[in-house]
Amino acid sequence: MTRHVGRHFLQIPGPTNVPDRILRAINAPTIDHRGPDFADLGKEVLSGIQGIFSTENPVIIFPGSGTGAWEAAMVNTLSPGDTIVIFDIGHFSQLWGDLARRLQLNVSVIPGEWGRAPDIEALESMLKADTAGKIQAVCVVHNETSTGVTANIPAARAALDSSSHGALLLVDSISGLGSVEYHHDAWGVDVTICGSQKGLMLPPGLGFNAVSEKALHASKSATLTRAYWDWDAMLGPNANGFFPYTPSTNLLYGLREAIKMLNEEGLENVFARHARLARACRAAVSGWGLDILCPVESERSNVLTTVNLPNSDALRRTILDRFDMSLGAGLGKLT
Ligand code: PLP
Repeated sequence: MTRHVGRHFLQIPGPTNVPDRILRAINAPTIDHRGPDFADLGKEVLSGIQGIFSTENPVIIFPGSGTGAWEAAMVNTLSPGDTIVIFDIGHFSQLWGDLARRLQLNVSVIPGEWGRAPDIEALESMLKADTAGKIQAVCVVHNETSTGVTANIPAARAALDSSSHGALLLVDSISGLGSVEYHHDAWGVDVTICGSQKGLMLPPGLGFNAVSEKALHASKSATLTRAYWDWDAMLGPNANGFFPYTPSTNLLYGLREAIKMLNEEGLENVFARHARLARACRAAVSGWGLDILCPVESERSNVLTTVNLPNSDALRRTILDRFDMSLGAGLGKLT
């Protein structure tokens, strides 16, 4: 076993490295979450995060993980037995569908290839055929972390519009937001789901729902049971910078710093940096004569690169031992 000194290189597709600036921001005394100082912090992060999602609508911040934020998006907008559509294009798309089934939703799956983007033409045909309006929501994973593929969200919106279909558009941008282009309002997304531990550069522990007017309206009549994840319970106190239950105060210090860092660099520059590094990574992989899982260049993610290897676990073990670097494992049927 090699003796490791210095820092571990955390190169998995989330949780990602937390910059020192953010670690230092988190390393401060926890304050009274019912006191006046907290209101300033709450207001600052709740308004600052809107810019990162590119929305003027509320963004709800839960103490929780991305999976919790998936559940929040569904329990606030849907009712038992509602039909949702999801694409079978990767591990996280599949897990989200499983979660929906456990919430007693009827899940309609559009088949796909793991390593390709969602089949938007199939979605459009399905929506056009649904003349009775049974489909209540279309669920798309923006950046499929298990395959390294980025979906075209405006195309999914266009499929809903061209079919004049009223279903909600729910998007998981857990590993996309803050790394690749995203516009919650301009792309007509009803709920965007995110987590703290990837492009937002924070430790795990926060889940986000950016909502639309239409999603808020749907939440008034949706009947799935909701308690912890209730948007309404959050939105009341959030208006004054507070939370209905104990928030992750120190992670919010970190979030305030992360928003500052993203804005100082400028989101466009952040996206360009990720695109440049992704091109370099893909060039290296090709130079080594290895295969990138996603065969279509325009669908390849700038967040992570997924490489087909016959014995990847052994290579990952060697890299961890010799270089103290963790690389992501194959997930689900890509294991
Ligand atoms: N969706 C995507 C695209 C993810 O990458 C992940 C986690 O890696 C999740 C959902 C689940 O989030 P969490 O593990 O924070 O619950």
